[in-house]
Amino acid sequence: MADVVVITGGSRGIGAACARLAAKAGYDVCLNYVSNRDAASAVVAEIEAAGGTARAVAGDVGSNDDVIALFKAADEMGTLKGLINNAGVLDVRSRIDEMTPERLERIMRTNILGSFFCAREAVIRMSTKRGGEGGAIVNLSSIAALLGAPNQYADYAASKGAIDTFTRGLALEVAEEGIRVNGVRPGIIDTEIHASGGEPDRARKLRDIIPMKREGNAEEVAEAIVWLMSGKASYVTGATLDVSGGR
Ligand code: NAP
Repeated sequence: MADVVVITGGSRGIGAACARLAAKAGYDVCLNYVSNRDAASAVVAEIEAAGGTARAVAGDVGSNDDVIALFKAADEMGTLKGLINNAGVLDVRSRIDEMTPERLERIMRTNILGSFFCAREAVIRMSTKRGGEGGAIVNLSSIAALLGAPNQYADYAASKGAIDTFTRGLALEVAEEGIRVNGVRPGIIDTEIHASGGEPDRARKLRDIIPMKREGNAEEVAEAIVWLMSGKASYVTGATLDVSGGR
């Protein structure tokens, strides 16, 4: 049976880079996306052209039903060995006194509940206590979790703070069950997430405040994520690694 990894938000940005790299590392990739079918299909085609196996599954990670369907689709591909909890959203710059309930609900539901729903499905399948073969989970946090993102997206930053705590808690919960759980905190990475926050040029504009004086790229983050997921990180659990050019 093939070793399968589920990558949420695998159609673009960091998730797509993880999908390409995980396929190269020998995983069969079940990549999830929410609406951009063309982008997801392009990643699948690229992986298949390179001799790998991938499948794209539409679904909102904030929907419990969609997440259950996503993991059922992954079951058809082989044995689940990894989860990259990558799907995440931010909104436009805003102070807390202007944040609508709809905005807060969307950020918290996607970034926090989505990661919990997916981790639950992964643990059900991978825990040796439940008959699984073990595996690894990598959660996407953000350097924003440490900075708080005042006057910009304190909601997003707080959702990533929750992910840092979740990484630690889940890692300890399943440490004896063959599952390692780690996190990655990217800094400013050149992806389309900044456009969704209303600032397509954000990565380039903020170069000066980054100690390494440049933004990162999705591939640099994917290298850290896929390493944490791999057997090469066999004694690493409960850790969150900054991939942020020193920021
Ligand atoms: P991105 O380029 O905006 O891509 C987002 C991906 O998530 C897309 O594949 C999108 O699917 C998917 N997605 C969005 N909402 C979803 C939902 N409700 N259900 C399922 N999939 C959903 O983002 P990125 O920059 O690669 O960010 C990836 C992760 O890294 C996020 O967790 C983000 O918070 C974190 N991060 C990014 C940066 C950065 O500077 N880029 C920094 C720190 C942390 P569609 O293609 O279908 O829309």
